Amino acid sequence: MTALPQERRVVTAIPGPKSQELQARRTAVVAAGVNSVMPVFAARAGGGIIEDVDGNRLIDFGAGIAVTSVGVSAEAVVRRATAQLADFTHTCFMVTPYEGYVEVAERLAELTPGDHPKKSVLFNSGAEAVENAVKIARSYTKRQAVVVLDHAFHGRTNLTMALTAKNMPYKDGFGPFAPEVYRVPVAYPYRWPTGPENCGPEAAAQAIDEITKQIGPENVAAIIVEPLLGEGGFIEPGKGFLPALRDFATQHGIVFVADEIQSGFCRTGRWFACEDEGIVPDLITTAKGIAGGLPLAAVTGRAEIVDAAHSGGLGGTYGGNPVACAGALGAIETMKELDLPARARRIEEVMKPRLTALQEKYDVIGDVRGRGAMLAIELVKDRTTKEPAPEATTALAKACHAAGLVVLTTGTYGNVMRFLPPLVIPENLLNEGLDILEQAFAEL
Ligand SMILES: *Cc1c(COP(=O)(O)O)cnc(C)c1O
Repeated sequence: MTALPQERRVVTAIPGPKSQELQARRTAVVAAGVNSVMPVFAARAGGGIIEDVDGNRLIDFGAGIAVTSVGVSAEAVVRRATAQLADFTHTCFMVTPYEGYVEVAERLAELTPGDHPKKSVLFNSGAEAVENAVKIARSYTKRQAVVVLDHAFHGRTNLTMALTAKNMPYKDGFGPFAPEVYRVPVAYPYRWPTGPENCGPEAAAQAIDEITKQIGPENVAAIIVEPLLGEGGFIEPGKGFLPALRDFATQHGIVFVADEIQSGFCRTGRWFACEDEGIVPDLITTAKGIAGGLPLAAVTGRAEIVDAAHSGGLGGTYGGNPVACAGALGAIETMKELDLPARARRIEEVMKPRLTALQEKYDVIGDVRGRGAMLAIELVKDRTTKEPAPEATTALAKACHAAGLVVLTTGTYGNVMRFLPPLVIPENLLNEGLDILEQAFAEL
């Protein structure tokens, strides 16, 4: 799979001298608004390892934010993308089309939930896909309102900032935001006032009540949900919540959009997270894991809905770039060949018991959750009040980084540590990463 040895190795302080030098150059010329989790510059990567410019080998529990599920240089991705590079890099699908785009759309039609006729349109980024899902839903319904959930993340462009819940760092000072966006509660089991048991139906009733009273369902073009919320803190909506919203959308002719940009493509142990509750969305947005690290995104959905947008109304210069499409076909081939949904479930089997054991030992872990290789712990100062503990979360992440483990934090309150290893990570690295995490807790 890769020539890079699958072993952690720490040979300098992290960041090492070469990374520090690059960081100084970076600070002089790269916008301060772009942040990095670790000021460590990558030289090579493969499997579950990122090697930095100082020769340190870090265990990767981030996968470039859930992107490199098949690895950073999966054989099929490299082979197909390289062949495509040699043939042509670009013609623009809107000028002279090419087969790769069509083939990606065929794969998406097969793999996404539901056996109705489906069509797709391809883009460069997740945010662009979500924006276009809104354009399509508005075109189809001739309505304007868009309903989103508390703790949602849908991107950083103007419309998707409006759809995103969290102010800092995503929105602060960047307004005004797009109108006709309405936010309703999400079933957050750990923090639902009456407890996790009835959280799903109660939150659904509240959300539906708010939509009915404040907007009127006949004005709603789309309800957009993340079936397993990403940046909001890896929240698994309480059972029953998503099906209730799905039914409500059907009753009122509202387009139900599943944003599976983070949770899709095998990450949660199925091809798509909404399959766990048997949800068939009208439109599904995908990106991140779709193309083995190459930039590609898609909106896929019911043919009659997608086709509501007029000819020329959708597109973009680079959307569905041929090299990115070749990468996607290679990534999908790899996912099938290696049965990556099963690998994701295996990662959960290895990680979850160890995270739960940590929770039993350390009061600061209030909740362990997630599915497949999309797992998280939520840290609190007090298990009764559930007051978030962002400082402890940051301190733990720093300790892991110093020991050579790439981990990411997340959550509306900044108190969630999330684990998103590449699905091809060797099991010994998975366990070693958890050893480092345990050590970080012991030293906290
Ligand atoms: C990352 C993400 C996006 C935005 O994708 P970009 O490619 O960064 O624009 C949208 N929705 C979800 C759920 C995401 O995780």
